[in-house]
Amino acid sequence: MSKLDNQTVVVGRLAPSPTGVLHLGNARSFLLAWLDLRSRGGHMVLRMEDLDGPRVKAGAARLAMEDLRWLGLDWDEGPIYQRPRLEIYSSYLQRLAEAGLAYPCVCTRKDVEQAASAPHPGEEGPVYSGTCRGLWRSAIEAQKQTGKLPCWRFAIPVGTTVDFSDRICGATSLDLAQQGGDFVIWKKDNEPAYQLAVVVDDAEQKINSVVRGDDLISSAGRQILIYQAFGFPVPEFAHVSLVVGTDGRRLAKRHGDTTVRQFREQGISSAQILRMLAATFTNAISVPLDRIHQASDLLPGFRLEAVGSKPVQWDGKELLA
Ligand code: GLU
Repeated sequence: MSKLDNQTVVVGRLAPSPTGVLHLGNARSFLLAWLDLRSRGGHMVLRMEDLDGPRVKAGAARLAMEDLRWLGLDWDEGPIYQRPRLEIYSSYLQRLAEAGLAYPCVCTRKDVEQAASAPHPGEEGPVYSGTCRGLWRSAIEAQKQTGKLPCWRFAIPVGTTVDFSDRICGATSLDLAQQGGDFVIWKKDNEPAYQLAVVVDDAEQKINSVVRGDDLISSAGRQILIYQAFGFPVPEFAHVSLVVGTDGRRLAKRHGDTTVRQFREQGISSAQILRMLAATFTNAISVPLDRIHQASDLLPGFRLEAVGSKPVQWDGKELLA
């Protein structure tokens, strides 16, 4: 994957999932994505990732947009919603199925756990052993023979490792067959899984620069396999560290007031939030913190590569880099 040259317009995206309100961690990732793009004169797409089934909350898309605007983060195109695009994703699944790169799978979560030769606890879950690979040519055939609704999995070619250079995390090498194995690209409830939807959208929306939280770094490996399967150009990736609580766990309700909205309701200004966020990446900016009044004040001399991959902690009052 080559770095974008000076002639190429950088096209990035803000891709919130409307599943809740924006917390400090999302706000930091979005701010970094916005600063990187605007400092390079790019074009920003706002994409609402509203395919997350029951987790999507009514009204959350509007609230997410309000919070972004309140922080001073804008976009040039969108919002583009995923839900109206179901048929498009379906046609891409078809292409993978026809190429023999995707197959129907009727295994339950329990089946997957039991068949895992070497369970890898943690984010990735157990490695899928490939039980259903090569058994059926279509979802209908799988359903007829088993009486179960199938999902679709991407068939990772044997011996594949994915190597890429992340702008923050550096050289990254992922052995995906050992980290989760063949992954779901279409869910049993007949909707695309995140991995497929995000690649189709990023490719169709001409996204060439992705900046997002580092919980998605192994997803980048899976997505690169899908880009390559379609012959799409692979964007450049930057995975920024997540914000965690003092317990080292990802920021959530248990950590108290962490949402942009709660701070706003307490009378905290967007400038104060921006300063608190910027205090976690002072290496990447050239403006003193007390001169920051709006997001664009952070732009002169901003350099995403200097942000660093150190975890950021929320101690209940402030963010500590
Ligand atoms: N919608 C995802 C999230 O809010 C981001 C996905 C992505 O950037 O690829 O975590």
